[in-house]
Order: sequence, then C-alpha cells, then structure tokens
Amino acid sequence: MKSYKELSKAELITIRDELEVNYAKVIKRGLSLDMSRGKPSKEQLDLSNDMFKINDLSYAEDGTDCRNYGGSSGIPEARRLMGEVMDVPAENVIVSGNSSLNIMYDTISRTMTHGIMGLKPWCRLEKIKFLCPAPGYDRHFAITEHFGIELIYVPMKDSGPDMDIVEKYVNNDAHVKGIWCTPKYSNPLGLSYSDETVKRFAALKPMAEDFRIYWDDAYLIHHLYDDKDTVLDIFSECKKTGNQDMVLKFCSFSKISFAGASISAIAASKANIDYILNSISIQTIGPDKLNMLRHVKFFKNLAGVSAHMKKHAEILRPKFEAVLNVLNKELNGLGIAAWTNPKGGYFISFETLPGCAKDVVSLCNHAGVIMTKAGATFPYGIDPNDSNIRIAPSFLSVEELSIATDLLILCVKLSSVKKLINEA
Ligand code: PLP
Repeated sequence: MKSYKELSKAELITIRDELEVNYAKVIKRGLSLDMSRGKPSKEQLDLSNDMFKINDLSYAEDGTDCRNYGGSSGIPEARRLMGEVMDVPAENVIVSGNSSLNIMYDTISRTMTHGIMGLKPWCRLEKIKFLCPAPGYDRHFAITEHFGIELIYVPMKDSGPDMDIVEKYVNNDAHVKGIWCTPKYSNPLGLSYSDETVKRFAALKPMAEDFRIYWDDAYLIHHLYDDKDTVLDIFSECKKTGNQDMVLKFCSFSKISFAGASISAIAASKANIDYILNSISIQTIGPDKLNMLRHVKFFKNLAGVSAHMKKHAEILRPKFEAVLNVLNKELNGLGIAAWTNPKGGYFISFETLPGCAKDVVSLCNHAGVIMTKAGATFPYGIDPNDSNIRIAPSFLSVEELSIATDLLILCVKLSSVKKLINEA
C-alpha cells in the first residue's frame, strides 16, 4: 500500500471524499459498542463460577473463624497464595478485599495524612511530586492528582520508563516521593521492563527518604501466549542494593477471578508491612476472609492459577488477534499509524499521526463506538503529541471487535487524510 504521505493533494481529497461517504453510512447503522475499558468478558468471569459451589468456608488453616472479625493481614493460606503469585514470602504480604487500586489509594492517602514510617506526613509538605511514566494507567495518575500531588511526565521507552529522567528526578529532587510502575504487560503499551530497567530502579539513590516505587503488578501472569515476558524480581534486586524498603508491590485477582469480587494484596519489606498493618488495624477489624478462603480453595496454588490463566488466554487471544489482523491488513504501509503487538495484558496501544488522537476518538464516539478518552493515558489527561489511543479488546465479542476496529480504521484514515490535506 502506498503511504498517504506520498499522495498528491488531489489524491488525498479523493480519498477523503470516499471515506466521508463511508463514515456517513456507518453513522446510519446506529452502532453502540464500548471499547474503552479493560473489563473481563462474561465468558472470562464464568471461568470462576465453580467458586460459588464451595461452601466449606468457615475455618482457615490456623483455626481462624473466617466468619468472624479479625485477621487484618489476611488468612495464612491467602497470604501464601498471593506470595507465590507475587514471588515474595507470605509474611511480606497483606491480603485485602476486592481492589488493588483501593490499596494504592489507601497507601497514598495514609502517607498524606500520616507519613511513612515516622516521617513527616505529605500534607505538611509544601510540594510533593510523583513520576508518571506515560502512556500509563489513567487511574494511577488520578489517585495522585486527587491528592494535589504534582504529576511529572516520564516518557516510556521500549525497555520501560526513561531511566535517565527517573534517576535525574529521584536522585536529585527531594520533592519526588514516588513513581507509578506497571512492570509487566504495562497498561496500555503491553510492554515489560527490561532487566537493566529493573536494576536501575533498584540502584536508585532517592533524595527523599520516603520515596517509594509503586510497583503495580496488575498483569504479572496475564500471558496471551506460551512465549511469555519475564521481569526481574524487583525485591531481590533491591535487597542487593540495600533498598528493600523502597518498593511497594501491588496485585489482585480482579482479572483472574471476578473483577468485582476478587482478592488483592500489597507486598513489601517487613518494616513497610509492619507500618501498614498498624494503620490497617485501625481502619478495619478484618477483611473478607470468606472470599480469601474461597479463592484459595478454588485456585489452590500458583500452578492452579497458571492453569486458569491459560483459559483466560484462550478467550482473549482471538480478540487481540481479531483487532491486530484488521489493523495489519488495513493500515500497514499507509504511514499514518503504529500499534503494539503485546504478548499479554489487556490492551493494544495505538499511535495516530501527531494531533489526530482526539479527533479519531471523537469520530468513533460520534459513530457509536466509545473509546478511552484521548489523552487519558497521560498525566492530567494531556498527551503532548495527541497521538495515543488505548484499545481494550477484552469485553466485546470477536464480531463486535471487528466492527469496532473497522470503524476505528475508517476514522484514523479520515482524520489523517484531513490533516495531510491541511498540511499539503
Ligand atoms: N492496575 C492496573 C495497571 C490496571 O490496569 C488496573 C485495571 O485496569 C488496575 C490496577 C485495577 O486493579 P484492581 O481491579 O485490582 O483494583
């Protein structure tokens, strides 16, 4: 296919006119599809329905009555299961309720009001900054923005966040108190941090004593293929550099069992865990231990979770491939877009020509396909190039995805051709 950039203005105008006719036809179809959020589909949720059949849930292995109060850190078998999945010892894990985002919010909130391990609460400090590798997860950025923390954009490279920039900020600016990371199959790029990136994280020498890496392992076992990404263990690396208190790891079963009723966890050094538990035991007299036990009885161990994740992959893979096949067929060689080919996670990240993402998303929305808001993957919702669009293939059926992707492609072509005509 000939690149749009090689076409004359007259050729571009002919293409635009054809595309506009097609776009008008799509509008008449009255589509109503949502490709905006990475929700598991009904088929994925159904994979865990047998959990409802488990009814012997009264007692944990240490005799804890799961129906009663108590157990701020979670029942031992749930800590062990989460520890296995997160590759950390059970005693370094606190298991909580449904949402890891909730734990992240609480972690920031607690540090705002009470500080970390005896250090000054952030709310008493004049300025707090957080590094936000982007494109990244909008809800990470939203938490820190919500607390009035200044968000610093750090560009993502193929190996992870630009570590030159991370080191410059963390090692020289005491206002920098944290960084959001999704190390495996990142949202939305689907990329995993290189060994060098993890080692450089572990070797940071933060100016701020209460600097923490917020290591959100949301997709750590969410592989689409047998050829899996692996990421170096940040805790072992931090141990080697004497930085074991610098990392807080988060994880949940939201996209393993039920997004609305799973279990989640924070893992950290003993000093961090003791401090966090102290606060949690004031916040609650105990989490939902029945659901923890239900999860352990259903999944048993890491092998059980991995086998289950293969079933998810079988549902998800055709969906990712449905989108990618159409993108490859229709856009390759046109010079107007680029996209990722992730081996896991929940998203495909799509790049339009600079300045076209908002227009494309608005054209899609107008024609009945809701996409993630353009810019959402950047701090403050501002994509400096206005080019990133997050595609979430999980929720729609393969047929719906192919309709939605056809529309996306039409809108990308239309927006690009209009831009090129203006510039010609
Ligand atoms: N972290 C990342 C990177 C995510 O992409 C998501 C959901 O899309 C979450 C966390 C939400 O996790 P949870 O459902 O455990 O709150």
